[in-house]
Amino acid sequence: MKPSRFSYAAPTSVEEAVSLLAEYGDDAKVIAGGQSLLPIMNMRLATPRLLVDINQIPGQDQILTNGGIRIGALVRQSAAERSTDLLTAAPIFGPALRYVGHAGIRTRGTVCGSLAHADPAAELPAVMLALGATIEATGKGGVRNIPAEEFFAGFLTTSLGSDELVTGVKIPLPSRNARSAFLEMARRHGDFALVGVAAVVEVEGGTVTAARIALSGVADRPVLANEAARILVGSDPTDVKVLEEVGQAAAATLSPPTDVHGSGQYRAQVASVLVRRAIAAAILGERGQA
Ligand SMILES: Cc1cc2nc3c(=O)[nH]c(=O)nc-3n(C[C@H](O)[C@H](O)[C@H](O)COP(=O)(O)OP(=O)(O)OC[C@H]3O[C@@H](n4cnc5c(N)ncnc54)[C@H](O)[C@@H]3O)c2cc1C
Repeated sequence: MKPSRFSYAAPTSVEEAVSLLAEYGDDAKVIAGGQSLLPIMNMRLATPRLLVDINQIPGQDQILTNGGIRIGALVRQSAAERSTDLLTAAPIFGPALRYVGHAGIRTRGTVCGSLAHADPAAELPAVMLALGATIEATGKGGVRNIPAEEFFAGFLTTSLGSDELVTGVKIPLPSRNARSAFLEMARRHGDFALVGVAAVVEVEGGTVTAARIALSGVADRPVLANEAARILVGSDPTDVKVLEEVGQAAAATLSPPTDVHGSGQYRAQVASVLVRRAIAAAILGERGQA
């Protein structure tokens, strides 16, 4: 199928883009990499009157890692995957990005586009939750910094206003004691996750001092497994019984969707196992056979 008719604008500044978004409201759509928007437009699930192409706005393709991480709106997923600065500061991006579609998709797709698209089974939104990221939104009223927990508001839905552009994502530098892992189960490599788990665990003297565990594919948005993290903190993360309990606690709070790819019950069981394995992988630096 072909998209319905639309007009096209390629602003050269954030201010110009925001003005267009404010003028057209819900009739406008931002296009970054186009890897999610164009299929949706071709299926006529989105029929914007105006496409606001942000690719001509300079300075949006930077990854900064000084004092904190900042990923600009036009950083391609492939550029993030190749950034040694980013992978040194937050190694979880390495395995998580390799699960995002295929190389060709990551060449065009942007990190921030994946966040704005807010697919509940996508990898990067869960990573941002686990890292305690903040999404920078720029609109007519100025800049808002939205914690990832508040940004993802439902299926393909965010708390962005219709005049707001995501201009970057900011991530606090993980502590030197932080260990992380990203694991997922999908029907084929490159598919969206049936269940994905991003785990960031801080360990001192053999005891967990902080933990953030985020899951994708199990609800209408990425979710934090807060009760599981609470059990893990203060525990020995190499204790198999602790890992079992943490995995079960993560699954107990979920009511995952049932669809043609798997039942909710199956997804909950997979979540329990993957949480356990992700923590083991983070701690032991292996792919998690716990
Ligand atoms: C075959 C295929 C397989 C895929 N597999 C996966 C997968 O396994 N995991 C995964 O996570 N993704 C997958 N994707 C999606 C891919 O990661 C997209 O690149 C990503 O979801 C969107 O990024 P984009 O830059 O292409 O955004 P676009 O497609 O340009 O935009 C997506 C949405 O976000 C909005 N948007 C984009 N940028 C901004 C911004 N800066 N501010 C405000 N709104 C914005 C757009 O208006 C639109 O609504 C797949 C895509 C394809 C085609």
